[in-house]
Amino acid sequence: MLGFLDLDDVLNEFTMHALKWYDIDVKYEDIVTRDIVKTAQDHGWEHDAVTFWRYLPQSVWSRCPRSKLFDVISGDYILTAPTTNPSCAAGKIEWLNNNWKKGHIITEHKWLLSKPGRVLVDDSESNIKSWERAGGTGILVPRPWNKNRDKDMVEYTMDKLNDLRL
Ligand SMILES: [Mg+2]
Repeated sequence: MLGFLDLDDVLNEFTMHALKWYDIDVKYEDIVTRDIVKTAQDHGWEHDAVTFWRYLPQSVWSRCPRSKLFDVISGDYILTAPTTNPSCAAGKIEWLNNNWKKGHIITEHKWLLSKPGRVLVDDSESNIKSWERAGGTGILVPRPWNKNRDKDMVEYTMDKLNDLRL
């Protein structure tokens, strides 16, 4: 099983960082319907995208021993979508160089890489849906804004990864 990992809110803490960085008065747990990207843009993110991403904290997944996460899936490709600001891609590449140092693909069309035998680990329901429609296996990482919000992020994701062993 070849694995692809989402960057924002999977390997990093994008949303929590955006709330702090732009002093947005919304609780992380309450981000259910709100478009945090739009909110961050309203607070000036587009003017400072490289710096924003440079300081994005790693999530629990980035801190996991690599062997734990990749015990089940092979490959360690980051699959991440850019915003419309070119400096977003630059900031993401800088983050990846500092924190990951492995393969990455920047595209908003993640599903183009989907096929049987490939798994996407992502917090976006629409990304998971289009990935699965194209034949791949999707694992929806629990976050407050998706339908898995009541599940434990690490436990649920690891269980789903372990299911792939069968
Ligand atoms: Mg994401």
